[in-house]
Order: sequence, then C-alpha cells, then structure tokens
Amino acid sequence: MDKIELDHDKEKGEAFAYENSVLILSRGNLAYLQREFEKIIGPAATYLIYDSARMYAQSSGSNIKGDITRLGPDISKEDLGKILMDHFSEHGYGRGEITEMDLSVPQVRIKVTNSANTMGYKESEKPVCHFIRGIFAGAVTVALDRSMHCAETKCTAKGDSQCEFEIITAEEMEKRRLGEV
Ligand SMILES: [Zn+2]
Repeated sequence: MDKIELDHDKEKGEAFAYENSVLILSRGNLAYLQREFEKIIGPAATYLIYDSARMYAQSSGSNIKGDITRLGPDISKEDLGKILMDHFSEHGYGRGEITEMDLSVPQVRIKVTNSANTMGYKESEKPVCHFIRGIFAGAVTVALDRSMHCAETKCTAKGDSQCEFEIITAEEMEKRRLGEV
C-alpha cells in the first residue's frame, strides 16, 4: 500500500492533496447520493449526475482543470493521461487505465476496476458510473479543447468484470443517439 500526503490548513478548514483542495468523503458516499437521486427523481438523475460532473471537471475551480493547466501545454497527451489516471486512483475512485488514445479521431478508451460509483448496486440492467463518466468527459474536453462526451460500455454493477468507458466527440455521440452509427 502506498501512502499519500495531505496538507491541512487549520485556519481555513481545508485539506490539500497535490496542491488541490480536496474534500474527504467515505467511499460509499458517491453511490449512496446517486441511488437517492434515482429514487426521488427517477431516470433523469442519470443525466443530472453525468452533466454536473462533466461541467464541474471543465470549470475553472476544478482540480482537474487545475491539474491540466499546471502541467502545461508541453506535456504529451499520453503523459497527461497517465498523470490524471494516477490522480483518479489516488483520490479513491478506483483503478483507471487508458487502454486506447487515438487523437486523430479523437477517441479515448479507459478501463476502471473497483469503481467507487458501483458500491451498493447489484444486478443493475444498465451501467451506473455516471459521475465518473462525467469526470472523464469533462477532463478530455479540457485536455483536447474540444467538446467530448463519455459512454460507459461495460460496468461491474451489471455483472461485467470491469467498467469500460469510451470518450468520443459530441458530434459522434449525437450520431449514436440518433441511431446513425
Ligand atoms: Zn461502472
């Protein structure tokens, strides 16, 4: 097990990891919140959670945008991807790995094992990692400076061995939604 260091600003009541201000929550909190949203507002919760995470990742105050900006334009997209995956894992979301990155399309595939988003879900009919999906879509949107979306193609909540995500352009996502592809 590796150790990660947190700094604590007692005056402000803030914790920091890698210069990012972080909030420490128990691992089940994310899935618990999502399940409650789904119970109260139904299927629309999926879109709300996805879109709010996607918007957050792109916002100037987010740690993700901060990481990408701090690492600067000189770093290769591959190295940037690896660092962001390390941070994803170190923040407790699960173990993420980029399995494909084709910048000419552009398209990125990521697999995640032990997703924090799936806790408490059993035999779901559909993938459930909407928060993580939103974070990936927002992060790649910032990194490529192009509007990107993310679909989850496999999910452990529905019995798959791992969660798999495909990040594609907004245009490609719209084509799929309309059934053109
Ligand atoms: Zn999943």
